[in-house]
Amino acid sequence: MNKTHAKYERTLVIIKPDGIQRSLIGEVIKRYERAGLKLVGIKMVVPTQEMVEAHYTLDPEWKKKTGEKNLQAYRDKGLTPPHDDPIKQSEMILMKLKKYFASGPVVAMVWQGAHAVSVVRKITGGTEPMLSDVGTIRGDYVIDSYKLADDDVRAIRNIVHASGTITEAKLEIDYWFKKEELVDYRLLVDAMLYDTDISGILE
Ligand code: ADP
Ligand code: MG
Repeated sequence: MNKTHAKYERTLVIIKPDGIQRSLIGEVIKRYERAGLKLVGIKMVVPTQEMVEAHYTLDPEWKKKTGEKNLQAYRDKGLTPPHDDPIKQSEMILMKLKKYFASGPVVAMVWQGAHAVSVVRKITGGTEPMLSDVGTIRGDYVIDSYKLADDDVRAIRNIVHASGTITEAKLEIDYWFKKEELVDYRLLVDAMLYDTDISGILE
């Protein structure tokens, strides 16, 4: 099968422990599903702290990028970050993430469709809950902030993880799912989303 078409793009979503505890599994799935994305893999897992560390360090740049994003968020608010070292900052975040993710079951999923990575990020909303747009999952269901999480020394509870880039998505999907756990199948709506010829509707 030729899988170079954009409709085969895949991304990883994890409903984090707070999403499960707040009974938002159905709500989260509904939002990706109604956008036209196709669920091609799903399972419930209780991650170990080692799995969480491995997941976040699949991308060797994650520590640098996340630390810089975080320190910049302080500066954007006119606040002085606790220090200037992005790696130190993301190592602290990682410690908190390990506790958070390993606290209970999560639901890992693979979603497929055109621009899956960026569409899922758009529906999910931004990392800083105070800035995530209303209408996104994080904008609608999260009351938290970088500051509150930092003050309380815990991870931001923002319902879902979603891969940030296509490269990150490939690494994360391979990490969480075996090949045989992902299903290639056709949905009837695919024709309306992707077929160039949509004649044949009228009888
Ligand atoms: P995203 O999940 O939007 O891709 P990152 O990859 O930058 O965000 O960070 C991973 C996760 O780490 C976030 O979703 C959030 O749960 C947590 N996190 C990020 N920054 C902080 C912080 N300053 N304090 C607490 N938790 C954080
Ligand atoms: Mg990320």
